[in-house]
Amino acid sequence: MALSAIDIYKKILPKTNCKECGYLTCMAFASMVVSEKLPLERCPHIPADAVAHYHPELLEQYQAGKWIKRDPAQDALVWAKERAASMNLADLPGRIGGQLINADDGLCLELPYFQDVLLIFSNGVRTKSGEELNRWEQVFIYNHLAQGGSEPPTGRWKALEEIPNTVSKVKSMREHVEIPLQTRFSGHLQDLRAAADNLGGREMTGQDKTAQVVYLFWPLPRIPVQLMFWDADPSEGFEAKASLLFDETITRHLDIESIIFLSEQLSRRLMGETDNSEAD
Ligand code: SF4
Repeated sequence: MALSAIDIYKKILPKTNCKECGYLTCMAFASMVVSEKLPLERCPHIPADAVAHYHPELLEQYQAGKWIKRDPAQDALVWAKERAASMNLADLPGRIGGQLINADDGLCLELPYFQDVLLIFSNGVRTKSGEELNRWEQVFIYNHLAQGGSEPPTGRWKALEEIPNTVSKVKSMREHVEIPLQTRFSGHLQDLRAAADNLGGREMTGQDKTAQVVYLFWPLPRIPVQLMFWDADPSEGFEAKASLLFDETITRHLDIESIIFLSEQLSRRLMGETDNSEAD
């Protein structure tokens, strides 16, 4: 039978609230054992034989997912991998670009990815540089593998809100992509240009656009993204503004959630957040 936080509190813990485990109360510790898989032995007052006794029961409920706090990145990744499970490597160059090569560990698709290259095997994805992909990156990459629909970009650009069914995601784009970019590069257009050049962006400023800085990026061969940036003008009371535009074909290649994840990745890279620890 599964152990609830109350069971752990009542049956196993000394209930002294001594805080030596780093939690304020024994009950708080018990909740973490159940929902976050915190090891029982983090409480130094539980005898070793009791830890050993309850370990199999806890393991069983963890494996069954009972009371475990949901991990949205992990859930999204499992879903994306399931979607991509039926992909055929041989179809990929026609659908999403890149080329098939024989790597040391088997046939794979070599696919340009920002300044790096993805090596896509039938059983997994890694970068050529060895840089680790965080889980959110993996989510949009696997979704692209599953969905990527061969249609090349048309050169007609749309803001996220112009793409159907994105209303609920516009706020995420503002909070996680545009506002951080505005905050970081307001009054620092040279820094923005340097970061964009470093990321392989092509400056398009002045080509039919009103923005002060316009860059075109190719995170993936079928997925161009345009960044438009207007600097703050304190004398007029204007704050800086950043906006991303996507080719009208983007939803043939990514689901809406993945468009946000890819945009966050672009934004993080521009801001020099190269550490690929999870950005949950
Ligand atoms: S160390 Fe053990 S006894 Fe002390 S508060 Fe934490 S769970 Fe309770």
